[in-house]
Amino acid sequence: MFDADQFKKVSQKIDSYREAMIELQIALSAVPAVGPENGGDGELAKANLLKERLIQLGFKNFRHYDAQDKRVSSGIRPNFVTTIEGKNKNRFIWIITHMDIVPPGELRLWSNDPYKAYVKDGHIFGRGVEDNQQDMVASIFAAKAFIDEKLIPEYSINLAFVSDEETSSNMGLYYMMDSTDKLFSNDDLIVVPDSGNPEGSLIEVAEKSMLWLCFKTKGKQCHGSNPQLGNNAFVAASHLVTKLVKLKKLFPKSDPLFDPPESTFEPTKKEANVGNINTIPGEDIFCMDCRVLPEYDLKDVMAAIQKIVHAIEKKFKVQIEISTAQYVQSAKPTSSDAPVVHALQEAIKTVYNIESFAGGVGAGTVASYIRKKDGYPVAVWSKTCMTAHQPDENCPVDNMLGNAKVFANLFLQK
Ligand SMILES: [Zn+2]
Repeated sequence: MFDADQFKKVSQKIDSYREAMIELQIALSAVPAVGPENGGDGELAKANLLKERLIQLGFKNFRHYDAQDKRVSSGIRPNFVTTIEGKNKNRFIWIITHMDIVPPGELRLWSNDPYKAYVKDGHIFGRGVEDNQQDMVASIFAAKAFIDEKLIPEYSINLAFVSDEETSSNMGLYYMMDSTDKLFSNDDLIVVPDSGNPEGSLIEVAEKSMLWLCFKTKGKQCHGSNPQLGNNAFVAASHLVTKLVKLKKLFPKSDPLFDPPESTFEPTKKEANVGNINTIPGEDIFCMDCRVLPEYDLKDVMAAIQKIVHAIEKKFKVQIEISTAQYVQSAKPTSSDAPVVHALQEAIKTVYNIESFAGGVGAGTVASYIRKKDGYPVAVWSKTCMTAHQPDENCPVDNMLGNAKVFANLFLQK
């Protein structure tokens, strides 16, 4: 429930911020914040600019959770929270967005300089404008409307700005959660607007577990005309691939929360073996991306894979090493009935006039860690045109304003 007159007032205020929101987007895009794993120097310059702007916009009450990181020149990976006190001082609604971006990739694929954001046909183009600045700026101006209208929100508002989301979150949200006793409490409404769909109808409450593996098969290299003198690693690995795709049959459960509803086991990357046709490859490397329903334990999946591998080793007299690139057992899903889900559904209905639904995704977000730790309910939601990490990443200005109104509506709900 919310006061319709107050919401109207706040919505009109948000509309009046259109140009200011675009301007902040452009200013933020001009300060690239790339983590050291991606070859960048971190987020501090962007965080400093952001904080300066927040102070100018009327925000107070900042708390900092800086992580130390020698890999960046400042030595700091910044994380901070700004709070607006609500009628209820001890219950918080969190909007968590990340400051870091991924590198632009091949510049020739961009129509313009990725760090000089610009508006064209109602969209802002530039690296970071969608992921995650669209909702960062939306959350800031949603809260600013309360400052300017001198309205006290129902819950206290916490806007969190974190580092390191694109690489591991170890210096970002995970650091924040581990550095303090109680960042969150079970009564908090926690929203991570970092994923969604173009309609704005998907509220993500569950994730599949992620298991990324590489298989190095070792046989014996020899001349192509005398295969009997060696042991063809490529042949053994090819048999292994065909056995591994059958994991689907060993883990067949399906859950309509997800799309696709089943676990997936896909061979993906294949490394080059020999450079010429007349050599029998003595070594072969391929990798696999598995997304497994939360109800399965990844230990059981690994055990099944090891069994398949041993059978191939025996049959083809090769050695196979398995290396793990990602092993993330997903958390228990947030209930589709959690208060944060209902609150979002009401806000989305009010602003976009659509019914939204709770669903699962196959990718890992920071929400998984929040769910895992003490089982806090968290909803991942954004109306997004899904151009994150792409060349010509862009954000419709109307999404930025509409999402701001969704956040503002949440702030008004009793
Ligand atoms: Zn993101």
